[in-house]
Amino acid sequence: MNHVFLLLGSNLGDRSAYLTRAKTLLQEKVGRIAEQSLIYQTAAWGRTAQPDYFNQIVIVDTSLSPIQLLTTTQQIETTLERQRLEKWGARTIDIDILYYNQDIVEEPNLIVPHPRIATRRFTLVPLVELAPDFIHPILHKTQKKLLENCEDPLQVKVLEK
Ligand code: ADP
Ligand code: MG
Repeated sequence: MNHVFLLLGSNLGDRSAYLTRAKTLLQEKVGRIAEQSLIYQTAAWGRTAQPDYFNQIVIVDTSLSPIQLLTTTQQIETTLERQRLEKWGARTIDIDILYYNQDIVEEPNLIVPHPRIATRRFTLVPLVELAPDFIHPILHKTQKKLLENCEDPLQVKVLEK
């Protein structure tokens, strides 16, 4: 079994419902969700005139290969009505592969660890919640250390229920 960290993000429509639907489909098509973070709310990165993002990280145990995992998460995005209208545009659901074990993958359509982990507070905050001491296989730093060093000014707060 492979241990993978997936970042879910939604900033269009019923954002909580899209996160829930994504997790149901992940359980069906990818594998058991071993752990999940709280849901965090963050201003849209690079685009201020968009609704805030809801972000959550899930740790999934899967037998899928990295490329099979990407294909499957992209199918789930399509099922959940995601339309690729513009880069960084609002989306019902985005599923990014952050870590796949401690493997390093460099394919034309898949880079793991995800290249923007260290620059995004909304990614690091839930990572620190779930796995503060997990070591980034390229940067050789813990998630806790990466967050301490992160200069992203965007505030990340726990979603109030
Ligand atoms: P973004 O997540 O950067 O806002 P998209 O979700 O549209 O944008 O992803 C763009 C492309 O990023 C995808 O078509 C996919 O092939 C590629 N990609 C590369 N590495 C990863 C990764 N680790 N996780 C998810 N997608 C990735
Ligand atoms: Mg994506």
